[in-house]
Amino acid sequence: MQHIPMVDLVGQYNKIKPEVDAAIQQVLSTAGFIGGPFVKKFQEDLQKYLDVKHVIPCANGTDALQVAMMALGLKPGDEVITTSFTFIASAEVIALLRLTPVLVDVDMTTYNIDPMAVERAITDRTKAIVPVHLFGQCANMDAILDIARRHNLYVIEDNAQAIGAEYTFKDGTVKKSGTIGNIGCTSFFPSKNLGCYGDGGAIFTDDDALAEQLRVVVNHGMKVRYYHDYVGVNSRLDAIQAAVLDIKLAHLDEYIKARQKVAAYYEKAFACTDRIVTPKTADFTTHVFHQYTVVLKDVDRDGLMQHLQSKGIASAIYYPVPLHIQKAYRDPRYKEGDFPNCEYLCKHVLALPIHTEFNEEQLEYVTSSVLEYIR
Ligand SMILES: *Cc1c(COP(=O)(O)O)cnc(C)c1O
Repeated sequence: MQHIPMVDLVGQYNKIKPEVDAAIQQVLSTAGFIGGPFVKKFQEDLQKYLDVKHVIPCANGTDALQVAMMALGLKPGDEVITTSFTFIASAEVIALLRLTPVLVDVDMTTYNIDPMAVERAITDRTKAIVPVHLFGQCANMDAILDIARRHNLYVIEDNAQAIGAEYTFKDGTVKKSGTIGNIGCTSFFPSKNLGCYGDGGAIFTDDDALAEQLRVVVNHGMKVRYYHDYVGVNSRLDAIQAAVLDIKLAHLDEYIKARQKVAAYYEKAFACTDRIVTPKTADFTTHVFHQYTVVLKDVDRDGLMQHLQSKGIASAIYYPVPLHIQKAYRDPRYKEGDFPNCEYLCKHVLALPIHTEFNEEQLEYVTSSVLEYIR
């Protein structure tokens, strides 16, 4: 029986092993584990790749979001609008900082935050919007930036799932995801599209003053050594991770193409049934397919997952419970039924394996196994 995992990080590593091993060895032999030339080089290469003025590396994607909100000076009681259909980190840091998470519903075709719902959720306490570029395609940033401008709000992009995606504005300008709002945040968690071999994250901005403040916050609120002007955090990307990331960054576009090829194969294979709704890419963005998430119609999702598992094929539900229904985030402002799109998706989505190492035979095996159950 074949074994098809959600991601194949071992296969990916084996292809770049000599480069990666040499780079790690170099870090070990210099013992420069924190900061130093590897972190600086990766930071500069990522700035070039993204065409952004500042990249501030940090310890993980959750920290990136938290640091962004701290650097913007958001205060307890300030409202931050985000989507109810995302990984918990997007809302977690809002709550941790005693800001008020304001959740809204998503667009049914892209699964991304619905700009009209954002507009309706704005009050005089609203300070920021956190669009999440879910599964690998950008949210509608023309509409979100327009709302932000009219209401004087910050935009923090949660770009953990979409690094490398490109957004085309109405005027034809193209920007990389994460460089569109005031601040972009990403994660280098191993399974992310640009993943390291442990934890890592980064924050992007074109704003010089904001970049300086972000650097202060990630480093204990310290500008001059041992003089602390702010309450900060300790959030660093270590040199081994930076060395690995710099090698993988050079392969990112090729990794994205490999994911897009898998997506195209799935799309074609599932065109024969209307019980599998394949992901649609909005016309203003490319899709880097961090996940390949389909919506199942009149299909027993648990049954399909079990069927796939019996054939050695992994599948996963991102995400089974909307944020407004999560126990820790229960709030009298929200109840079940408030965000119908989001709630529908949580009940019907299924993510199929997608990664950089698929071959045709494996794809045929996955798609025929899925269709065998559907028919
Ligand atoms: C992975 C992820 C994060 C958090 O990143 P970590 O590095 O795991 O802290 C935040 N937001 C989204 C949407 C993610 O997918």
